[in-house]
Amino acid sequence: MATTGATNPLEPSASLPQRLLDLLFPPRCVHCRRAGEPLCATCRSAIRQAPAPRCARCDLPLFAAAGPRCAACLALVRQPAPPALDRIVVASIYEGAVGSAIRALKFRRQRRLAQPLASLLASAAQRAELTADLIIPMPLHSGRRRERGYNQATLLARPLAGALRIPLHDGVLARVRATEPQTRLSRDARRANVAGAFALAPGPAAIKILAGKRALLVDDVTTTGATLEAAAEALLAGRPAAIYALAVARPLHGAALGDDTALDLR
Ligand SMILES: [Zn+2]
Ligand SMILES: [Zn+2]
Repeated sequence: MATTGATNPLEPSASLPQRLLDLLFPPRCVHCRRAGEPLCATCRSAIRQAPAPRCARCDLPLFAAAGPRCAACLALVRQPAPPALDRIVVASIYEGAVGSAIRALKFRRQRRLAQPLASLLASAAQRAELTADLIIPMPLHSGRRRERGYNQATLLARPLAGALRIPLHDGVLARVRATEPQTRLSRDARRANVAGAFALAPGPAAIKILAGKRALLVDDVTTTGATLEAAAEALLAGRPAAIYALAVARPLHGAALGDDTALDLR
């Protein structure tokens, strides 16, 4: 359960080995290959948010909705058992440069892309006036974590926690079951696939950290939000005051999910 220090990791203060590596292998933009930065200013400026107005709960664009929430969220909050997630904020549309950066971070070990993507998260949180008492990266199953060597959500959450000055708690939540990739599954099948996949860390520490607090789950990509909701349900055992989620990107059209098999492979 590491907590971040007072440093601001969003500062471009790379370590000495990183600076040496940059000298030997100057970074190139992951999307357009221009030399200089891992994600260049031109590509960063082309990153789009989903069109406004957006749902106050799930951040999806509102098409012909009368109120602040979309029809799906209205139905959800009226259920006898309301959803565990109070709010989802998404920084950008999953496309172009953001898609390239997320895939490189996740599948090609390009960890330095965590920095520009964390900046996107920080801006989105500030824009949405999203505040929380603690940040929790979405956990990877231990097998996947070992295979990859890192959890990309932790790499994103660490500089975000520094920028927002919110403590990071990695280890409050565990992924206790490996799940099938979500991409080819229907909405209901996705929910069933991730049900029970998460659990609060055993012992009183996790409950002590969460009780009465506003928790913010951080992830790279969300699609239907089923995985975030399953994680939030596990957090409820710690009796937090609220649970929010913040993701870097989401495809704009649910129907296009099958296009990118890399999308939901955790
Ligand atoms: Zn570029
Ligand atoms: Zn909604």
